[in-house]
Amino acid sequence: MSYNIAIDGPAGAGKSTIAKKIAKKLGYIYVDTGAMYRAMALYLLREQVQPSDTEKINVKCAEADISIGHENGEQIVYLNGENVNDLIRSEKVGNMASASSPNPNVRKKLVELQRRLAASENVVMDGRDIGTCVLPDAQVKVYLTADSRVRAQRRYKELTDKGVSCDLDTIEQDIIERDRKDMTREISPLMQAEDAVLLDSSDKSIDEVVDAVIALVH
Ligand code: C5P
Repeated sequence: MSYNIAIDGPAGAGKSTIAKKIAKKLGYIYVDTGAMYRAMALYLLREQVQPSDTEKINVKCAEADISIGHENGEQIVYLNGENVNDLIRSEKVGNMASASSPNPNVRKKLVELQRRLAASENVVMDGRDIGTCVLPDAQVKVYLTADSRVRAQRRYKELTDKGVSCDLDTIEQDIIERDRKDMTREISPLMQAEDAVLLDSSDKSIDEVVDAVIALVH
């Protein structure tokens, strides 16, 4: 049987950084489910689908074949065979992912892929609904959160480090709006699973959070 660790939480809480480190330490596969929703969003943007056009999203999502692979411990997301890792990190794609992820067809397709991966491998999987919906039997569940200002500052630093110019207040507003959408949607809203451990990373270093999760595994 495979061992599964589920990490859920709002945008910018540090899920992927933490999950990647844990996966490396334990020799597990890291699965970034947000990247799958982002790849789907990229497809919809390329097809010029409007975020509010639910009917078109329903039809178009069937045309997107999303799969993942790994290279040097990094997850690669393929959209119809194309490696799209470098194209899915923009705020535009993130906002489209948040707008299209409530769609039941989009979720069904990606949840199936996520469950298949977790059934065959030991995984650290991060997202919004992993502990509540995708892997309800995961052996360890964590709900990782942080203050919205702290999360905005982290994303600001990430973007400016890459040379992308941006505005901190706008990023915080985007984060708050994305959380609101993710938490209030009808299907699989973002929430802490009953049996998940709550961790707040606002005043913690990455290693402190990683150690706290590893302690849960042990
Ligand atoms: O985590 P990330 O910011 O990459 O996720 C982008 C969007 O994908 C989220 O705002 C959310 O709407 C959606 N998502 C989801 N379920 C997941 C992972 C991400 O609905 N398991």
